[in-house]
Amino acid sequence: MAQDMNSTNTAVHPIYVVGGGLAGSECAWQLAEKGHKVVLIEMRSAHNTPAHKTDFLAELVCSNSFGSQTDYSAPGQLKWEAEKFGSLILKAAKESTIPAGMALGVDRERFAKSVTQAICNHPNIRVERRAIHSLEEVPRPAVIATGPLTHESLALSIRDHLSYGEVENDFLYFYDAIAPIIDVDTINMDIAYKADRFGKGDSDYINCPMNKDQYFQFIEAIQKARKIEPKDFEKTPYFEGCMPIEVMVERGPMTPRFGPMSAKGLANPKTGERPFAVVQLRQENKEATCYNMVGFQTKMAYADQKEVFRLIPGLENAEFLKLGSMHRNMYIHSPRKLTRQLSSRRDSQLFFAGQITGVEGYFDSTCIGLLVAGFLHEQLSGHAVTLPPRESAMGSLLNAITEYKEEFQPTNINFGLFPRAEGDEKLSRDEKRIAQLARAKASMEGFTQRTTQE
Ligand SMILES: Cc1cc2nc3c(=O)[nH]c(=O)nc-3n(C[C@H](O)[C@H](O)[C@H](O)COP(=O)(O)OP(=O)(O)OC[C@H]3O[C@@H](n4cnc5c(N)ncnc54)[C@H](O)[C@@H]3O)c2cc1C
Repeated sequence: MAQDMNSTNTAVHPIYVVGGGLAGSECAWQLAEKGHKVVLIEMRSAHNTPAHKTDFLAELVCSNSFGSQTDYSAPGQLKWEAEKFGSLILKAAKESTIPAGMALGVDRERFAKSVTQAICNHPNIRVERRAIHSLEEVPRPAVIATGPLTHESLALSIRDHLSYGEVENDFLYFYDAIAPIIDVDTINMDIAYKADRFGKGDSDYINCPMNKDQYFQFIEAIQKARKIEPKDFEKTPYFEGCMPIEVMVERGPMTPRFGPMSAKGLANPKTGERPFAVVQLRQENKEATCYNMVGFQTKMAYADQKEVFRLIPGLENAEFLKLGSMHRNMYIHSPRKLTRQLSSRRDSQLFFAGQITGVEGYFDSTCIGLLVAGFLHEQLSGHAVTLPPRESAMGSLLNAITEYKEEFQPTNINFGLFPRAEGDEKLSRDEKRIAQLARAKASMEGFTQRTTQE
């Protein structure tokens, strides 16, 4: 690694990291450990967000859990990889752990204090407490890690930057509307069938047909399901294009049938008949290992979603890699606006990290901060930027937010994002996952050895 060269270069040009949340703190730490001078700018306590309560860096705004840490889960694999890179957030979490079963639960105050202390005491980091209102205010190189509750004036500046020279300016989203995602192997294709409306297309969609009784039973189940009530500041406007399915049902039991559940032009090739209604599933990734339920963004409680959606013919045994949700959020259409190493396509010295890039949750955001630090370090050292291996959890997460797709919704790490290898289709679900994790570990061993030898 070109440590000396960096130390000299960056003594003159510090790197500016905006946002001292999970991603920003991890990013600043990783850069400082590589010998860079870093200025970390955090607006709290000068300005607060509607969710943060303290002025600690890396405050956890809601749950005090970093999710599963078992070595047979996708989030556990992400932690295994982050540990190899000496993640500050992971270390502080492990030092502040409280009993939480298989999850990495922490004493939130101890955790945030420990991160704050580590950052403030690092000789290469200077923390400034002020709000940034515009991208122009920030010297380059810079990393923007201001999260789902980015200060409004900066959000507008980011929107202008992303929209520059484009007719539409729809590249920055202020809330997310996530439809459930299903493991393709758990869709019953004896019942479901592939077809595109009126035969236009290459039969890309999988359709789950319903008769009249099944449809009304399904609608009744949606009506009865528990819904999650948003906090005041989280209330999101519903646009017609992404209204939660239960809100559509409230407008009338037949509304979904005239919307996303319309069976027009979707006769079942097995019977030649048009079903009463359908649920359409759209391919989610290039490998076609997972599909999302078109038009089924929802605020139903997670447990109820599984029960309700398994009433859909063909989805009786569906495994949900991700459940539906709607939140206040702020994220970029990264596949269109950012490079593979998460710098702006318009400014190679301007990087984005954390939830703003389209990942979800504390630890996934942390890992994006960690990766961006590595990319920036390589760029400043004059090396070619190396992406984490596609087989790894970090590589899979990065691929999910940078691989081109027209419609982009935020994601967290899950098995659906890992690539499959030839022969995987012959394995049981558990065997396949074991193989995916083994490949992830092997690829990451090689990658960390290579990057630490540079
Ligand atoms: C209400 C709510 C509940 C959530 N619950 C959970 C949960 O239970 N579990 C989970 O895993 N995830 C949860 N999340 C998501 C989680 O907060 C994020 O995934 C994670 O915090 C993202 O990390 P980040 O570093 O990208 O952003 P953050 O951790 O939010 O950090 C961004 C930082 O940037 C600062 N900042 C913003 N604008 C500016 C500016 N203009 N100038 C300077 N500083 C600025 C903010 O003060 C903040 O400290 C929740 C989010 C919200 C909003």
